[in-house]
Amino acid sequence: MKKPSIKTWRRALQIGVAVAFILIPLLNHFRINYFTGNFLAFYAAGLPLVDPLAVLQITLKNYYLSVDLLVGAGIALGLAAALGTVFCSWVCPFGLLSEWGQSLSGRLLPRADKGMSVKGRGFRIKIILFGLGLAGFLLFSTTPVLNQLSLPAWYSRIFQFYFEQRHISLAILFLLAILLVEFAARQRLWCRYICPQSFLLIAAKLINPSRLKIGFQQDKCLSNKAMSPCQKACSLSLDPKTLGESVDTECTNCGDCVVACKRMGRALGFQFGLRYRNSD
Ligand code: SF4
Ligand code: SF4
Repeated sequence: MKKPSIKTWRRALQIGVAVAFILIPLLNHFRINYFTGNFLAFYAAGLPLVDPLAVLQITLKNYYLSVDLLVGAGIALGLAAALGTVFCSWVCPFGLLSEWGQSLSGRLLPRADKGMSVKGRGFRIKIILFGLGLAGFLLFSTTPVLNQLSLPAWYSRIFQFYFEQRHISLAILFLLAILLVEFAARQRLWCRYICPQSFLLIAAKLINPSRLKIGFQQDKCLSNKAMSPCQKACSLSLDPKTLGESVDTECTNCGDCVVACKRMGRALGFQFGLRYRNSD
C-alpha cells in the first residue's frame, strides 16, 4: 500500500482541527467541557494554549502576566522557534480555506488569467500593520485591536456564537470577502501580507536559526523548467529553491514542495541546523 505523503497527513490534521472547532462549542453547549475556547485562548483538559499576540496586548495594557497566559503563549512561541510557522500550514483553519481557494482558482480561472502580480516580502507590511495596530490599541482603545483581525479566531468564534448564543456572526461575510479577493487575485494575500497573528510566530522562528526548515541541494535538482514543480506546488507563491538566500520569513514548512520534488531528484527536504543544505 502506498504510504501517505506529508501533504496527506497535513490535510488530515488541518481538516481535523477545523472540524474540532465546530464540534467543541457544540459539546460545550451540552456542558461537555474537556476542551473549551477559541484560537485566542484555548484550554485542552486544563492545558492553556493562547495566541501570543493576544497575550502581548493584554500584558502591555494591564502590566500583568498570569502563569496561564505565559505558559499558553510560550507553547506557541516555543513550537515556532523549533519547527517554524507550522501553526499556519498544519493547524490554522483559515490557512486551510485559503489554500483550498488558491487551488480552486487554479482549476476554475482561465489559464491566461495569471492573477495579481505580487512582489516583495510580506513580512515588511506585517511589521507596519502590527506596529500600527499595537500603537492604536495602547493609545486609543481598550479592545485588543489586532485580535479583531484574527481570522483563525473568527473562524472558531463564528461557531461559538452560533452554538452558544444562537447568533450568526457577520464575521462570516468578512471571511468570505477575503477568500473571494484571494480567489480573484490567485494569491494568498492575507497570510502573506496582512495576518497579524503570524507576526510573533515568524519573529520566534527567526530567533532560532537552527529550526526546522526546507533545504535545497542544487546538484540533485532535475528540473530545467522556468517554473519548477516545487514552485508550482507552493501555495504561497514562493520559490523553495531560494529560501536559503535571504532571511526566510514566509515559508511555513508545509512540505508541499518537498512532495513535488520527490520525482525531481529529491533536491528539497526538511532539515534542522544552522546552515541551509545547499550552502555546504
Ligand atoms: S498567516 Fe494567519 S491566517 Fe494565515 S495561516 Fe497563518 S495564522 Fe492563519
Ligand atoms: S516553500 Fe515549500 S514548505 Fe515553504 S511554504 Fe512553499 S511549499 Fe511550503
